[in-house]
Amino acid sequence: MLIDTHLHLQDIKELPIRASIMKLAQDFKVGQFVCNGTRPDDWPVVEEVARADRRVVPFFGVHPWYADKLPTDWHVMLEGFLKRRPDSGIGEAGLDKARHVDFARQTEVFHQQLEIAGRLGRPLAIHCVRAWSDLLNVLRRSLPPKTRFMIHSFQGSQQVLRDFLSLGAYISFSWKSLQRDTEESIALMRNVPLDRLLLETDFPYTEPEQIGPDAHDEKYFESLQGVYNLAVRAKGIEEGTLEKAVWANGTAFLSGTPAR
Ligand SMILES: [Zn+2]
Repeated sequence: MLIDTHLHLQDIKELPIRASIMKLAQDFKVGQFVCNGTRPDDWPVVEEVARADRRVVPFFGVHPWYADKLPTDWHVMLEGFLKRRPDSGIGEAGLDKARHVDFARQTEVFHQQLEIAGRLGRPLAIHCVRAWSDLLNVLRRSLPPKTRFMIHSFQGSQQVLRDFLSLGAYISFSWKSLQRDTEESIALMRNVPLDRLLLETDFPYTEPEQIGPDAHDEKYFESLQGVYNLAVRAKGIEEGTLEKAVWANGTAFLSGTPAR
């Protein structure tokens, strides 16, 4: 069984495409989708998508791109969504220096989400672009004890990888994060211990430059299979062994209970 550890089902604007993915998932052996919100506006849709299908695990969070556009009571709203779904996580949250969103504000909003993750004991999905040392500093200082977290669509260096692994991170790769430089990416993936590896599509944002509207169901499964196949190559193990390991990691990340 496959798990997609990070995507945005709520951003698939064409409802028949979303329905088709959910329907075909069985044939492609996809058993779980971790659906991440990005701002208060999309939390109700994430909640709805998860309510409609048991395979969808909802994550509610504020993406750094939206950190400066929040209502004052956003964190109260966030806790409301999290408490209604005890199996939900926080995400996607993080830091991004490639966007012109006030960095101090991004950091503040990220800190608040870290605090909530710690207090409610929820897993956290982290987005990071060009802010590795900042993220590392924040986590070293403020990551609440025992908080499970994953770095989504990882594109850092080998050193950055070592730093985050030492903090207990799960590392999630997407087809998008890997297809740019295969040799280097395979080397990176090889250095993630098998019990810390997660795999995702970030659908419908599967291509670096191409967004949502063109996304369709074939693209979804192509991108999920693509990243699983790369992982099989990088790890040099049987497909079934890899799939079982990633499934177990997903369960451990989501529920805190090691699945082995
Ligand atoms: Zn995402």
